[in-house]
Amino acid sequence: MPAKLIDGKAYAEGLRARIGAAVATLKKEHGLTPGLAVVLVGEDPASKVYVANKAKQTVEVGMNSWEHKLPADTSEATLLALVDKLNKDPAVHGILVQMPVPKHIDSAKVLNAIDPAKDVDGFHVVNVGRLSTGQEALTACTPVGCVMLAKDTLGDLTGLNAVVIGRSNIVGKPVAQLLLAENCTVTIAHSKSKDLPGIVRGADLVIAAVGRPEMVKGDWIKPGATVIDVGINRIERDGKGKLVGDCDFASCAAVAGAITPVPGGVGPMTIACLLYNTVKAACAIKGVKAPGM
Ligand code: NAD
Repeated sequence: MPAKLIDGKAYAEGLRARIGAAVATLKKEHGLTPGLAVVLVGEDPASKVYVANKAKQTVEVGMNSWEHKLPADTSEATLLALVDKLNKDPAVHGILVQMPVPKHIDSAKVLNAIDPAKDVDGFHVVNVGRLSTGQEALTACTPVGCVMLAKDTLGDLTGLNAVVIGRSNIVGKPVAQLLLAENCTVTIAHSKSKDLPGIVRGADLVIAAVGRPEMVKGDWIKPGATVIDVGINRIERDGKGKLVGDCDFASCAAVAGAITPVPGGVGPMTIACLLYNTVKAACAIKGVKAPGM
């Protein structure tokens, strides 16, 4: 039996519709319009597209959106001054500085300058610490999206063996923390792990966040397991450009119970979860209960 396809695009569309309804309720009942400010430093083409998509989707759900585009030679001090201004602006509930920033800027310093209450990317050490100690936190968007898809597919995740491949601060570590909070038994594998196929074979739930095209093969997957593929890798095949994940889709789908495609799986969840975090942040700042989303 081929695996069920986990349709992240459809799930993200539904989530955005629920966020739109939540925003309408907040406007009507509390006079609150959540607002997201995105800061882009430099001319990276992929970042420009990503920032434009964020702004478009923010407006589509009825929220306020601000884009701050700064030249590549912007000093760290100027960027920090802008972050400080946004921290103090009561109309702004979410601040996102698009990564990567140019090399002369210390990204950790910038991320930690954002007010943790407005840190909708969930990268501030306070939010990372809150997540790892089981406290309410704004949590990185892609990991939140992965867990939403896993729960939508499997229901309660309690007791499942989850293997996360990758230990980055933006995906691997936070998704492992979220799965731990869902009562999974979590293994984090990485580039120095021994016998990766053997580790993955023990997983009921595999989250691949590596950045290596089609690395995970079907014979690594336990029959019936759920596979969430975070990887986005651009490759050349048959003379054409193509996006593939970290999992070899055909062989994994032949064995797995359910699998996310690339594109159309985890990818669309990231911006939807950014909007979700912005609504959460706005409600927490205003001191109102977030509507169900
Ligand atoms: P990263 O480079 O920061 O981290 C990669 C991790 O993979 C590292 O922890 C490393 O230890 C591990 N790794 C590398 N080679 C390995 C190997 N041979 N075996 C086992 N582990 C290995 O990458 P990242 O930022 O976490 O992103 C991972 C992938 O997810 C990339 O393809 C990226 O494009 C994609 N991504 C997608 C989204 C999205 O869908 N919106 C968001 C973020 C990242």
